[in-house]
Amino acid sequence: MSNPMFSHIRRRLLLSNLLVFAVVLGGFAIAVRVVFVHNLREQLTNRLIAVAQGAAANVDIENGHLKVEEHFFSHELKKQAETLEWFSPDGRLLKQQGKNIPYIPLNTKALVTIHGNDSPLLLVTLPILQEETKELIGYIRISQELDEFNETIGQFDTGLIVGVITGILLSAVGSLWLNRQAMQPIEASFERLRQFTADASHELRSPLMAISSNAEVALKYDEGMRPEDREVLGAIASATDQMTRLIDDLLILARTDRQQPMSMRTINLSETLGQLIQLYKLQAQQQQISLEFSSDPQLLLRGDEVALMRAFTNLLQNALRYTPEGGKVSVTAKRLMHHIQVTITDTGIGIAPEHLSKIFERFWRADPSRHYIDGGAGLGLSIVQAVVQSHGGSIDVKSQVGQGSSFTVRLPLSHSLT
Ligand code: ADP
Repeated sequence: MSNPMFSHIRRRLLLSNLLVFAVVLGGFAIAVRVVFVHNLREQLTNRLIAVAQGAAANVDIENGHLKVEEHFFSHELKKQAETLEWFSPDGRLLKQQGKNIPYIPLNTKALVTIHGNDSPLLLVTLPILQEETKELIGYIRISQELDEFNETIGQFDTGLIVGVITGILLSAVGSLWLNRQAMQPIEASFERLRQFTADASHELRSPLMAISSNAEVALKYDEGMRPEDREVLGAIASATDQMTRLIDDLLILARTDRQQPMSMRTINLSETLGQLIQLYKLQAQQQQISLEFSSDPQLLLRGDEVALMRAFTNLLQNALRYTPEGGKVSVTAKRLMHHIQVTITDTGIGIAPEHLSKIFERFWRADPSRHYIDGGAGLGLSIVQAVVQSHGGSIDVKSQVGQGSSFTVRLPLSHSLT
């Protein structure tokens, strides 16, 4: 099974590749179509102009008037769905040959015009001038039905659309393969890093436990010990505690980064949260913070209870840590349509808007100079996010500096039990 984080990256890569390819291919297809239609129309117009010029050169003039020859390549005109028309200088239709078309008034202003919508005609109008005097003796107009022309363009469009769709499908297959090739080494090195963090944290736990218990024993039997030595031992015990907590955090993150699901079972979140609030009641009292809790009953979901307890502990600890005396922290858990929504709101120091996007990053703290004892190592919210996401949920934060913060966790309700 692929890590959800990498599946998400692969999906986004695939979509971006397809989008870029579709834009390039679409742009290319539009350019090809524009050039194709332009050339085809130019070819057609040039041919009509040549025919009209040939016909204009062949007219007879009688007493300064046009005399149109009968059956002037009429058969050929019909075959091509073309019509030749002769007009007097004042626009009167003198003769029509070729395919029969309804009367269209003469337009002497434009050489090439298109007439009609349903079955359009391309019209080319040329003046006929007397050879010697260059005097206008009439007009010749040739028209061609555009049905065949439009049909050719329709076929070309179908070919282009099929080509573009095939291209996009082939590129999807290619992108999938290329993305897999590109992501494999990254996934492998991520997995090695995760494994190293898990192994190193695990291996470091035993020596740290040994240091911690030795320091505790030495502090317990401290008769005859110099006060400076007691102080040093106290510092060692406290630093060891701090490191043990950090290592536990790293282990949790390494576990939630793992591809396999955690140990899932059905949990009643209202009970779990109730127990958590009990644990922190005393601390809140000592800090003179009012801690309130309200929950809908029977909020059932499938999850890893230890991991979820850890996540909500981190949120509650942060709320208590960053709220001054006299403040208020409230935890509410509600059942929505498909989700359980837990909101932890405090009236604490708040988070600056420019920091809001960073608070879930690993090892990020608003005030890096603060000692780990005052705050955590900056892993608390990363753990919350990793745990919530590994349960298919999401977390949002709203905050205002000096007013307080509100973290909202949404977790999917257990379907078999809804
Ligand atoms: P830490 O272990 O330092 O608390 P977190 O990942 O839990 O690390 O939080 C990261 C940073 O986000 C904290 O250092 C703090 O600046 C800020 N933060 C988290 N929760 C709150 C809160 N409820 N109120 C104000 N700031 C908060």
